[in-house]
Amino acid sequence: METPRTAAGTRLDPWVDAYAARTRGLTASQVRALFAVASRPEVVSLAGGMPFVSALPLDQLADTVSRLIRERGHQALQYGSGQGDPVLREQILEVMSYTGITAHPDDIVVTAGSQMALDLVVRVFCDPGDVVLVEAPTYVTALGVFSSYQCDVVHVPMDDEGLRPDALRQAIAAVRASGRTIKLLYTIPSFHNPGGVTQGPARRTEILEIARREGILLLEDDPYGLLGFDGSVPRAIRADEPEGVIYLGTFSKTIAAGLRVGWALAPHGVREKLVLANETATLCPSQYTQLTVSEYLATQPWFDQVTVFRELYRERRDALLESLDALMPAGTTWTVPAGGFYSWVTLPEGLDATAMLPRAVAALVAYVPGVGFYADGQGRDSLRLSYCYPEPDRIREGVRRLAGVVEAELEVAETFGSPAPRADREGPASPRPDQA
Ligand code: PMP
Repeated sequence: METPRTAAGTRLDPWVDAYAARTRGLTASQVRALFAVASRPEVVSLAGGMPFVSALPLDQLADTVSRLIRERGHQALQYGSGQGDPVLREQILEVMSYTGITAHPDDIVVTAGSQMALDLVVRVFCDPGDVVLVEAPTYVTALGVFSSYQCDVVHVPMDDEGLRPDALRQAIAAVRASGRTIKLLYTIPSFHNPGGVTQGPARRTEILEIARREGILLLEDDPYGLLGFDGSVPRAIRADEPEGVIYLGTFSKTIAAGLRVGWALAPHGVREKLVLANETATLCPSQYTQLTVSEYLATQPWFDQVTVFRELYRERRDALLESLDALMPAGTTWTVPAGGFYSWVTLPEGLDATAMLPRAVAALVAYVPGVGFYADGQGRDSLRLSYCYPEPDRIREGVRRLAGVVEAELEVAETFGSPAPRADREGPASPRPDQA
């Protein structure tokens, strides 16, 4: 069939009326186009959350992969179990032990990154219209999953210690008063993406108590837990509640995102459903990448490498915070991450991070505007900065450029009595290069 074109030459989609209703949430952001420009080398990107994989011992990894194919190719290149490799699941227990979790390997389901685990959990639990409680703001591609299963997302405000228990109680009461069903409480307790905040032990206990009392399943997403800058690993909520929590983990930040190996640790009955869902989605997770991870864990000093990553990211975090302190105009605030990849910046009153982005990109610096991290249009005055990928000097230069742009916006606001024009309201959109 010939693809129709408009006069301007844009392709029309002849199947647009055929799509399932659940795909309505799968929209590309207006800022996506800007990121094509932002990925040019002269732009300092504080936008994407890409792990700095160049710090990996690449020669050793190459040896691991080549030995794997030579010696266990018959296994690595074959189909495997829908639940994931049994040896790797044992090793995952060791990785999770740093977070205080003890579990049975049979309750682990290996997935294509923790993103896949998130998708499977929502697929297994949520019908259209079911409510998922999430932090405000929250991980952008989790919002994409909730939207693709037609969930109603309800944001719960955070403070410097993450999700606020008082606000959580209120949100639960309000949702229930409206007659809707809450299926999941999705939380990122450690080194939050995008918030950069961490729940302390007492906060975790309080949130867990609320979830238990209200009978709400807690979905704990923990990709950054091992990347705390003081070397300590926050105790996972799952460590204190095996039945009411599904825990998501990943090797994306501790080894390599490109391997796409993550997992869910679930209550036993739920695990069975997740395995079946995993099989319908992918038959089995990749044997090749699972065994690569397994060999790497068994033969390399993997935790030393985690320490290398921590140090590297801490240096970059420091470069970011020092330059924000030195250069940002008064009225700008930001969170101080104790680990992970991100700081959440709130602009001076009246400024709009979405409207400002084209001017920032013209000044050769990129960030992710805050609205993408909300399902309900909040976040216009905020943005996410990530410090994981650029070298410290580039980060300093990026902040210098950004501070100049914010200054200029403030001048416009002062001169004309109002801030620079706000971008048109847009829906909850996921800027593609920043899904990480
Ligand atoms: N959850 C959060 C909070 C994340 O930041 C990410 C990726 N950046 C993921 C889940 C998914 O990671 P992956 O699929 O690579 O394990």
